[in-house]
Amino acid sequence: MTHIVHRNPHVPLPVAASGSGCTIIDSHGRRYLDASGGAAVSCLGHGHPEVRAAISAQLDALEYAHTSFFTTEAAEALAETLAARSPAGLGHSYFVSSGSEAVETSLKMARQYHVDRGEPQRHRFVSRRQSYHGNTLAALSIGGNMARRALYQPLLMESHHVSPCFPFRYREAGESDERYATRLAAELDQTIVQLGADTVAAFVAETVVGATAGTVPPVPGYFRKIREVCDRHGVLLILDEVMSGVGRTGTFHAFEQEGIVPDIVTLAKGLGSGYQPIGAVLAHRKVVDVLHQGTGAFQHGHTYVGHPVACAAALAVQRIIQRDGLVERVATLGPRFEQMLRGALGDHPHVGDIRGRGLFWSVELVADRASNQPFAPSLKLNARIKAAAERVGLLCYPGAGTVDGAVGDHVLLAPPYIVTEAE
Ligand code: PLP
Repeated sequence: MTHIVHRNPHVPLPVAASGSGCTIIDSHGRRYLDASGGAAVSCLGHGHPEVRAAISAQLDALEYAHTSFFTTEAAEALAETLAARSPAGLGHSYFVSSGSEAVETSLKMARQYHVDRGEPQRHRFVSRRQSYHGNTLAALSIGGNMARRALYQPLLMESHHVSPCFPFRYREAGESDERYATRLAAELDQTIVQLGADTVAAFVAETVVGATAGTVPPVPGYFRKIREVCDRHGVLLILDEVMSGVGRTGTFHAFEQEGIVPDIVTLAKGLGSGYQPIGAVLAHRKVVDVLHQGTGAFQHGHTYVGHPVACAAALAVQRIIQRDGLVERVATLGPRFEQMLRGALGDHPHVGDIRGRGLFWSVELVADRASNQPFAPSLKLNARIKAAAERVGLLCYPGAGTVDGAVGDHVLLAPPYIVTEAE
């Protein structure tokens, strides 16, 4: 009898006992190929000795110091590393313990930025349907995963959702990338105007949508048009790269492939590669300068902000990624991974779409390939696929169709960056 409140008490879980590279081994010695890095977390793979050594060295020196008293070398060095990997100006980090906390923090940062600039009426956030930004209440409010929101609806804050950039499902017949992007940017523009442009604080989007719809990259030009709309209305652009950032799509930041620079970026999973719980908000100098001049400080904080052991682990992870050229490896392996997926599954009668970037791919399943009609949600395909894959020692991350019936089941694959072609 377990004393843990498990995600699903009716599904018995194997006990994870050890791990190495892309493999997790359970307490019965069964091996699982971690083809999704958990939930796109593990980018270095399991059991990396250098990360273990960095954690241990930090623990030998000091386990914790509160950030109202001290900064630490680990946190400073990690912030410097992130600044060096980011475009000019986007160089100020705030370290938290998860992706949801990073998103909450980014919303509060945007709000305070406007208040400190003398626009206290800006309090609204616009985001997209079929998105996921975390499970805490504000992150859930801006998220567009209706299944996850439903139970908590009465607790959620005001939210405004526009259409996602999801060509497989929503591009009109014959519509070019350019026209599709223009249509979506116009919808955002209209929404902001209708809400009252001077009341909107920020637009929040995942650069490449992760779990809710299954690794959906934007069409070329979409984010450039979105950036223009935000700039026109003085609205901050927050990109949530909790899942798609830190090299997962083949560039350190996924937005580098879009030719824009956001005002705030959220990072988490790949930042610490699962060795410690850590997330980050990376903010542009233009935002941080205002916070530091206005009330003098960012009015936010958690006990474990900038936790030294988490920062030491993430610093080691980032140094290894850089030294071993792992982002470049993702860029090289990505097209090969795509080719393998298309070769194995492209002609399958129930595969509607194969999409993604880098080592961040999904296979969307359809009941009927001619109409792209999804399977009935009552079939619970995602749970059945997950279980079937586990039986053959494969860990993948299936997601269910969620919103309006148009989005079907998908299987998300996000192997560690060290994965081999044979694996
Ligand atoms: N944002 C995105 C894009 C995510 O994919 C997730 C988690 O999957 C989160 C935020 C929330 O992160 P966490 O689960 O670490 O709180």
